[in-house]
Amino acid sequence: MYPPHAVGITASLFERAGWDVECIDCTSLNTIDAISQILQTETKHLIGIGTSPASYHNDISFVIKLRESIGDIDIFSFGKGLGFLEKQFDLNQSVYQYTAFDFPPKSALPRFSNSELLVPERTHFMGAVNDWDHLDISEYSFLSVEASTGCYYNCNWCPYPITQGKKVHCKDLSTIRDELLYIVQFASPKSTIQFRDPLFPGSKERVYPVLEIIKSCIPPSFRVGIETRLEFLNEEVISFASSANITNINLGIEFGDPKLLSDMKPGIGSVKSALAYLEKTRNISELCLQYGIQPFVMFMLGIPGESIASLNNTIKFAQSLPDGVAIQASFFIPIPGTQIFNDLGLLGEQAIDSILKGHLKAGELLSAITEIPANLLNDAKELVQRL
Ligand code: SF4
Repeated sequence: MYPPHAVGITASLFERAGWDVECIDCTSLNTIDAISQILQTETKHLIGIGTSPASYHNDISFVIKLRESIGDIDIFSFGKGLGFLEKQFDLNQSVYQYTAFDFPPKSALPRFSNSELLVPERTHFMGAVNDWDHLDISEYSFLSVEASTGCYYNCNWCPYPITQGKKVHCKDLSTIRDELLYIVQFASPKSTIQFRDPLFPGSKERVYPVLEIIKSCIPPSFRVGIETRLEFLNEEVISFASSANITNINLGIEFGDPKLLSDMKPGIGSVKSALAYLEKTRNISELCLQYGIQPFVMFMLGIPGESIASLNNTIKFAQSLPDGVAIQASFFIPIPGTQIFNDLGLLGEQAIDSILKGHLKAGELLSAITEIPANLLNDAKELVQRL
């Protein structure tokens, strides 16, 4: 049950342009049933397919089959991760007639590869409730929302500043309230509402007002998660988040090795500061557990610059986190558009190509781009991960 938010936003943009829009979720259908469901819709002038780097290969096979059944109807692709795959989608113009590259809310609207298709500009977060009303959200157990977008830290591997921009845009408090009230009214009361802001909730000044809205709008039967940087958290915030029924806090720490953390992660500073940052990670995790919030700490393994020593330090640090902390370890993937991808040159191109062609699944180890033996990285993942 993939979070449907991108579908809702795209549908609302087209509706504003005067189109009648119907959304169909085919994620749990086989190809034949999905095509038959599309054929049953009343009128079809244009079909949009939500896609992503991870599903790119399968989606193209699906669209080729769909094309055999629907004849001469334009098909476009859209999705939050397409902004950095322009070159690859340009190669597929025979499959998709249009591609919405710059997905909102980074810029105003999907920038279509063929400007004949006109959709109105979307200013940031306009009418956020309309992003949901094309979907039967009671069908979804996980709904992602945003109180803000963008991240000014600009880590050289991260897609957020590429897809959302380096400037932070904050949703109005009244828009957040309206959106949450809508979701609570129509979603299943046991679902998870996950705030996906890179820096929840956009600025430190907004932490209490936004948590207050969450507290007043979302009943305790829902799970509510946030994702943020350590810099936004202290005991007072965690205690308030707990009273607002925040159930999990996700933190991308990335490296448990102080030198690698200092070298790679903007905003950390010297190796001494990196050591303090890791200590704070431990303290914040403990506080979350004390206040009944599940801390979820994320690490990245195998980035260029990783050594066997840094890998071992990450393993040691992750294992030193208190019992009860959930830990995810992911292998580094070079994302087109990021500085690290550009620096890798051909190696980066080949790596992303193997994912898009379906030779490798997103999340599998790209052993060609790291000097660390694959078995050590796979072992490290096993030792670090605690879900
Ligand atoms: S890794 Fe986190 S802090 Fe760095 S740019 Fe991405 S969202 Fe921002």
